Amino acid sequence: MKKKKIIVIGSGFGGLAAAIRLAAKGHQVEIFEKRDKPGGRAYVYEINGFKFDGGPTVITAPFMFDNLFATAGKRREDYITFVPCDPFYRIFNHEGRSFDYNSDEAFTLSQIEQWNPADKVGYQKFIRSTKAIFQKGFVELADKPFLSVMDMVKVAPDLIKLQSYLSVYQYAAKFVKDEFLRSCFSFHPLLVGGNPFDSPSIYALIHYLEREWGVHYALGGTGAIIDGMSRLFAELGGQIHLNQGVQEILVDGSGNRVKGIELADGTVHYADTIISNADVGFTYRYLIPEKYRRKYTNRKIERMKYSMSLFVIYFGTKRRYTDTGLAHHNIILGPRYKELLDDIFHKKILADDFSLYLHMPTITDPSIAPEGHEAFYVLSPVPHLGADIDWKKTAKPYRDAIMQFLEDNYLPDLQANIVAEHYIDPLHFQGTLSSYLGSAFSVQPTLTQSAWFRPHNRSEDFDNLYFVGAGTHPGAGLPGVLSSAKIAETLLNGAE
Ligand SMILES: Cc1cc2nc3c(=O)[nH]c(=O)nc-3n(C[C@H](O)[C@H](O)[C@H](O)COP(=O)(O)OP(=O)(O)OC[C@H]3O[C@@H](n4cnc5c(N)ncnc54)[C@H](O)[C@@H]3O)c2cc1C
Repeated sequence: MKKKKIIVIGSGFGGLAAAIRLAAKGHQVEIFEKRDKPGGRAYVYEINGFKFDGGPTVITAPFMFDNLFATAGKRREDYITFVPCDPFYRIFNHEGRSFDYNSDEAFTLSQIEQWNPADKVGYQKFIRSTKAIFQKGFVELADKPFLSVMDMVKVAPDLIKLQSYLSVYQYAAKFVKDEFLRSCFSFHPLLVGGNPFDSPSIYALIHYLEREWGVHYALGGTGAIIDGMSRLFAELGGQIHLNQGVQEILVDGSGNRVKGIELADGTVHYADTIISNADVGFTYRYLIPEKYRRKYTNRKIERMKYSMSLFVIYFGTKRRYTDTGLAHHNIILGPRYKELLDDIFHKKILADDFSLYLHMPTITDPSIAPEGHEAFYVLSPVPHLGADIDWKKTAKPYRDAIMQFLEDNYLPDLQANIVAEHYIDPLHFQGTLSSYLGSAFSVQPTLTQSAWFRPHNRSEDFDNLYFVGAGTHPGAGLPGVLSSAKIAETLLNGAE
């Protein structure tokens, strides 16, 4: 096979994984990243001796990293150490009562017993039935390119048989009757930017995937995975150019192929192939002049639905909070579930109440904070920038409300103990991460925006432009973006 010069735009998990795979095949690969560190959403904030992972914290399907390192003839264990988390999550209802689950069915059933014993049988049926969804949606389809409509036609009967027309919530509700337990077994689409009430039931596979391979943490934080991948890429001869934002993808005279990139400072770099790991909506809309785009016109991009955004506060305290009943991964549900999601996804208003994910990694790994200190991040899903919310004015009061809530209910004397803090809002996702509408997970995972309907991994407009990352097939989350890199490699190796 002819060795190619390949440019990857962006160093998120998808970009790094694609770059590693192609460098391992002997291609000459360079990554251009606009930020000062690799990782994208997995950027690490280092403040006053704390290391805060900016984004992904829940590592599922760790074997995908093993496979990635194996493609380069290396052992993942020599770069990254994973440790299992137990419980996977501690989920609190609005009154502070908690529910834990993990992959041990007997344990999870004992927890269900405390909420609604009648749901134990339903949960067992739910798990058995999600196995078929997992087999089809993850094992068979997640790393296959959906380039032709026939690919979709072929799987349509299976999707109907698996009741993909139901939402994840409707699907879970068929088996489990208690409203709180329904939230516990249907929130998973939120992890990839979907509304449990609008995401097809195929996304119920995420819960199964957690059970199959567990929920893991990388020692040193998710940033340690990025470090390991960056090191591997360098060993393969790859180069990452930091602080080098791409401002245009250059189209050749034919109009069907791309030929290089122009950086913000005007420098031009040519390549045989370009892979964009930048947000797909943003790449088409802002990096390629509209006159060259036949399918992804500005109108098409504006009409697509985008995932919610997030408000995230990273904070470190000068005392430990290990005696407060919190786990490594906590979900604190507010009093409203469907209504809050309606506010975020449909009405696009910022509600007074919130549901939070509270990350407390120092419970597993004290090394990421100074001794005797605790590191946290708290995340609240909020509408993307299609909403009429002025974050320049709203961010601080919103931050204050969340911190007061945590202080009153979970972390006594919190604000007096904070010694490091940083927060991000939808403007960060739009400005710093260049995501269309400041969405945190790119294109929303709905039935009509999944598989073939999602932006393809090989551009529908340019033959030698590829996409990896959250906005393309199969979707957001680390298993999804790692799969997109594998698909891009397969497609690229099959081309010319
Ligand atoms: C707060 C948060 C928590 C999450 N938690 C989890 C979790 O626990 N588990 C999980 O599996 N997933 C989680 N996710 C989702 C997961 O992090 C993402 O889906 C995934 O990391 C996205 O990877 P990506 O390959 O799409 O690249 P991104 O991380 O989106 O990176 C894209 C890169 O492209 C760069 N870029 C953009 N434009 C340009 C340009 N013009 N020139 C050069 N570079 C450019 C950006 O700077 C960025 O570095 C979370 C996401 C967020 C935001």
